[in-house]
Formats: sequence, structure tokens, C-alpha cells
Amino acid sequence: MTSVSLSSFDLAVPTEEHKMLRDQVRAFARDEVEPQALEHDRHERFNRRLFEKVGELGLLGVTVTEKDGGAGMDATAAVIVHEELSACDPGFALAYLAHSMLCVNNLAVNATDEQKRRWLPKLLTGEAIGAMGMSEPAVGTDVLGLRTTAKKDGDHWVVNGRKMWITNGAVDDERTPCDVMLFYARTGGSDARPEITSFVVQRGTPGFGVGQKIHDKAGMRGSNTAEMVLEDARVPADNLVGEQGGAIKCMMRNLALERVTLAAMSLGIARRSIEVMVSYANDRKAFGKPLNEFGQIQRHIAESYAEYMACRAYVYDTARRMPLDAYGNRLDSDGVKLVASTMGKVVADRAMQVLGGYGYVGEYVVERLWRDAKLLEIGGGTIEAHQKNMTRDLTRGPFPWA
Ligand SMILES: Cc1cc2nc3c(=O)[nH]c(=O)nc-3n(C[C@H](O)[C@H](O)[C@H](O)COP(=O)(O)OP(=O)(O)OC[C@H]3O[C@@H](n4cnc5c(N)ncnc54)[C@H](O)[C@@H]3O)c2cc1C
Repeated sequence: MTSVSLSSFDLAVPTEEHKMLRDQVRAFARDEVEPQALEHDRHERFNRRLFEKVGELGLLGVTVTEKDGGAGMDATAAVIVHEELSACDPGFALAYLAHSMLCVNNLAVNATDEQKRRWLPKLLTGEAIGAMGMSEPAVGTDVLGLRTTAKKDGDHWVVNGRKMWITNGAVDDERTPCDVMLFYARTGGSDARPEITSFVVQRGTPGFGVGQKIHDKAGMRGSNTAEMVLEDARVPADNLVGEQGGAIKCMMRNLALERVTLAAMSLGIARRSIEVMVSYANDRKAFGKPLNEFGQIQRHIAESYAEYMACRAYVYDTARRMPLDAYGNRLDSDGVKLVASTMGKVVADRAMQVLGGYGYVGEYVVERLWRDAKLLEIGGGTIEAHQKNMTRDLTRGPFPWA
């Protein structure tokens, strides 16, 4: 067991390995992610080449065991990568999250060894793009009401339904679907107790395709979002992931990691917004003195810093306590996303206010962060969904500190 000096302990970089990871991703984000962010946002384009570079760095499988070809790291490492990428380009970070957390990590935890050998190698290099389809046109928060069905037919499942808002669902503007989509479907049960099973569908499966690429998103424009169609799609029986009817546990386990990494994206947005507003308030003068001497500007800066630091502690503490192969972390994985998503949005808004007119223009970065920040109050569970889940868990008790 390694001993840690209390004075040097930092939840956000608990070990030397985490520090090296943060330094590596921060340098990569500064040198390679930042320069392309505004352009890809403007043209609503996903940077496929840059994504493959993330694969070359070994980060597409950050939480995948070394035995399965990944970096073998923990939830804290995943949070570090998301915070650093998001500080430069939240849209690109969202594409990374959908691939590495929602698809790759889900397969790494729930698929058989044979399935992992089939799908993981290309997903880990970025040669294949992965997505996860849970939401549907008529079903979001009420996820257990999903309508996509899978019916067994010999050694295949025949799947019918639509998946909506799927990050990485399309890989380009030509409606080319992703290579691998992990999705949830009903395989039986009743409306009150649906039997839900997860499957993988691959590009080239007849009946599987992109219904529409979603354009004109307010933010996160560096990631593709699409509606996916499954029309009599024949999915081989050995593409069923986990056990038939056993997908709710897999879904809950993956949602916990999704929420803590989405919260980390809000940390990245807030941290960058604070850097931009402080630097601007130092340089810009009004009424003969720097902006940082005005009390109202000081309030924007000080409150942003304190709120960011409070969320940072909560996010990294939750990640530290989050095993990747268990579930039951809902209270705090919902909790961190509830507070951090709104904090990120508010801090980006304050940064824009401090920059005045310049803040409203793309070149000054914070207007993009401000647009991207809003999605984090919606995607991966709305803030109302977190309030509902957390109240249910707290009412059932016991309190986590009991
Ligand atoms: C850019 C983007 C990327 C996304 N990526 C993915 C992805 O990769 N994969 C995927 O599966 N999904 C993805 N989503 C979908 C996302 O997770 C859903 O949008 C989200 O879960 C909300 O579902 P909904 O949009 O259907 O809203 P609804 O569930 O219809 O909610 C509408 C409103 O009603 C409120 N509401 C609903 N139920 C309750 C309740 N019980 N109590 C109080 N209020 C309630 C909601 O909070 C919200 O304010 C993405 C969405 C976006 C916009």
C-alpha cells in the first residue's frame, strides 16, 4: 500500500499515474483539440482524424482492462480525460464519451470474451466508431417505456424501432451509420414489467441505418447526432450482450459512469470559462481601472471559482468511490451531474458577461462553451430526472452518511 502525504493529496490527481494522464491529455487538448474546435463547431463536423489520434494515445479504452487491450484505468481517469478534452472542445469530448463510455466501456463490462475479441480491437484504435442507442423519438426520461422490439427468429433477432439523439450514430453528412451501436430493445414482458435486452448492431446489417442526421443543434456541434432506424433488422443471436432480459442492470451501471463523466465535462467548461474571465478582467480597463477592481466583476469571478471547486471535489470523490463493474451509485452519479451541469452553464454565462460584447463572439471561446454547457442539463438524464431519482433514493434511505 502506498502512503500519501495529506498536504500533497489532491482528489483530482490522486496518483502519479493520474497526474501523467492529466498532463498528457492537457497537452494534447491544447495542441491538437483547441485549434480545430471553432471550425468544427461552425461547420457541425466531427473530426474523425483527431479521434483516431486519441486512439493512438490509447485513450479510447481508458477504462478497459489491459487484458482486453485498454489502459486498465479507473473512473477517476475517465473523469480526468473528459475534463481536459471539454476545457477545449466539449463537442469533441461528447463524441469521445459516447464512444468510450457508452459503447466501449459497456461492452468491456458486459460482453463475453468472444464478443470483446470481435468488437473491441477496432473500437480501441478508432478505426471503428461506436454509439449507444437508448433514447427514442417518443421515449427519453421514461426509458423503460422504450418501444423498440426484438423478436427471436431462428439464430437471429428481428429488430424494429427507432433510436433518437444518438451521438456518433452517423459518422458523416452522407448518413453513413456508425460501425457498432449497442442498443436496448424489448424482448418480452408487459408494459408494467418490460423485459429489456441489449444487443449490438453493426454497419452493413440490412434494415439498420441513419434516419436523419440532426442539424442546427445549439451546441455540441463537433459531435454528430442522428436518428437511427432499425427496420426488420436481422441481428445475429450472438450479438446479444449480457443475458436476455438482463439489460437494466447493465444500463444502470453504464448510466452512473456516463453521468460522472458528463459532470466532468461541465468541470472542463467551468474551468476554462474562469481562466478566460480572469485573464480578460486583468487586461481590460474601464473608467481608468482594470475590470477586476469592480465589485460586480469580482463576484462573477469569486463565485465561479468557489462553485467550480465545490463541484470538482464532489465529482472526483464520486469517481473515486465508483467501481466500474458494480451498480448502485445512482444517488451521487445523479447528484454530481445535477449540480455540475448547472454550475458549468452559469459559470460560462458569467464569463460571457465579464467579456461584454467580445464574449458574444466565437473567437473568444466562451460563447461556444456557453452553448455546449446547456446540453449537460439534458443529455444523459435531465436535471428533473436527477431530482426525481435522488429524491426516491433519499426517501427510501438509509442516508449515505448514516
Ligand atoms: C445532443 C444530444 C445527444 C444525445 N446523445 C444520446 C445518445 O448518444 N444516446 C441516447 O440514448 N440518448 C442521447 N440523447 C438523448 C438524451 O439522453 C435525452 O434527450 C434525455 O434523456 C431527455 O429525454 P427527452 O429528450 O426525450 O425528453 P423527455 O423525457 O420527453 O422530457 C421532456 C421534459 O419533461 C421532463 N420530464 C420528463 N419526465 C419527468 C418526470 N417524471 N418528472 C419531472 N419532469 C419530467 C424532462 O426533465 C424534460 O424537461 C442525446 C440528446 C441530445 C440533445
